[in-house]
Amino acid sequence: MRKLDFHPAGRHFLQIPGPSPVPDRILRAMSYPTIDHRGPEFGALGLKVLEGIKKIFKTQQPVVIYPASGTGAWEAALSNTLSPGDHVLMYETGHFATLWKKMADNLGLKPEFLGLPGIEGWRRGVQPQMIEARLREDTQHAIKAVCVVHNETSTGVTSDIAAVRRAIDAAAHPALLLVDTISGLACADYRHDEWGVDVTVSGSQKGLMLPPGISFNAVSQKAIEASKHAKLPRAFWDWAEIIEMNKSGYWPYTPNTNLLYGLSEALDMILGEGLDNVFARHDRLAEACRRAVRAWGLEIQCVDPSLYSPVLTGVMMPDGIDADAVRKVIYERFDMSLGTGLGKMKGRMFRIGHLGDCNDLTLMATLAGVEMGLQLARVPVAASGLPAAMQFLMSQPNTPKLKAAA
Ligand SMILES: *Cc1c(COP(=O)(O)O)cnc(C)c1O
Repeated sequence: MRKLDFHPAGRHFLQIPGPSPVPDRILRAMSYPTIDHRGPEFGALGLKVLEGIKKIFKTQQPVVIYPASGTGAWEAALSNTLSPGDHVLMYETGHFATLWKKMADNLGLKPEFLGLPGIEGWRRGVQPQMIEARLREDTQHAIKAVCVVHNETSTGVTSDIAAVRRAIDAAAHPALLLVDTISGLACADYRHDEWGVDVTVSGSQKGLMLPPGISFNAVSQKAIEASKHAKLPRAFWDWAEIIEMNKSGYWPYTPNTNLLYGLSEALDMILGEGLDNVFARHDRLAEACRRAVRAWGLEIQCVDPSLYSPVLTGVMMPDGIDADAVRKVIYERFDMSLGTGLGKMKGRMFRIGHLGDCNDLTLMATLAGVEMGLQLARVPVAASGLPAAMQFLMSQPNTPKLKAAA
C-alpha cells in the first residue's frame, strides 16, 4: 500500500472506464467560489447547463440533473415511472445491467431478466428479437418498461438502441423504454428523441470528463405522463418540482454548484469540438487499442465488431491467468489504473479505458504500460502491440477539426 502523503512523479494514468481523467480546464472552472444558489448569477448558470446538456442527449425535452452518482439516476428513472409490482423487462448485457435489475427487485418491481446463457450475453449486445418476441407474448401489456444498457461498461460492448425501439414498435407494445448510457454519453452517438427513449440515465464521470457526483434523467412526454400515475414512493427523486424550478434555472434544494461550473466548461469543450468529432476521436482510439490487443494475441471481450465500445476495451486473459494480478503489477510498477473484471468476469479480464480526455499519446503510453505489465506478469503475448496501434494512428487522419487547426 502506497503511503498517501507520497506523491509519485508524473501523472497517474487513470485508464479505467470511469471516472475518467478530468481536464485541467474543468478542474480550474470548478475552483471558482461557490455562489448563492438562489442568486441571479446561479440562475444564468443553471439555464446554460440545462440547455446545453440537451444537445448532448439530442433532445428537446427536459433533462433533470441530480447531485448523485449514476446509481441515483437509475433509481430516479424507475421510481418516477413505475408502481410497486410492475413487470419490467430487463436485458443482461453485463454487470451494470445486473445491478440495475437488482435495484428494480429492491424497489419492489418484478423484473424479468432476458439474456443469453453463461457469459455469452456478456460478449454480445442486447438481442432485439428476444425483446420483440417477449413483448408479443405479453398481450395483456403487463410489462410496463423495457430497460437496457447502451454501453455496458463491464464488458466493452454497446447495444443498438434504435433496434430496441424498433422491436418494441414491431410488437406494438406500449412499454416505456428506459436506457442507461451512463458511460456511453459524449463518447458514442446517442439520440434520445430520435430513438424514442422515454428515460435516458447518465452520469458525470465518464464521457463528460467531470468528477463523479452529478447524474441525469433525460425524459420524454410519455415518461412525464407516466410519472403522474406512478406509485413507487419517491421524494428527493421526484421530477415534477425539479422540472418546474429548472424553468428559471434553479433547483428545489442546494444543487452541486461547483460540479455545475465543471459541467458548463465540459459542455463548452465537447460542443466546441463538435459531437461528431468527439465520437470519431473515440472510435479511432478504440480501434488503435483493439489492434494492439490483437497483435498481443489476446481476445477482445466483445465478439460483435459492429458493437465494439468506443469507451473501453475488455481484454480477456488466457486460462489460468489472474487478470487482477496483471493489473496489480501495472499499478505498482507504472502508476496506471485499469478496470477490473466485474461480476462473472472477475479475474478473467481487465478493461482499458480510452474515453474522455484521451489522445494518441495517452493511448500509446497506456498500451506501453499494459504491454510491459503483461510481460512482467508472464502473460504469453504473440508480439508487441505497439507498432500495430502506431501504424493505425499514423495512417488514419485525425478529426477534421484538428486537421484544420494544423
Ligand atoms: C458507472 C456506471 C454505472 C454506475 O454509476 P455510478 O456513478 O457508479 O453510480 C451504471 N451503469 C453504467 C453503464 C456505468 O458505466
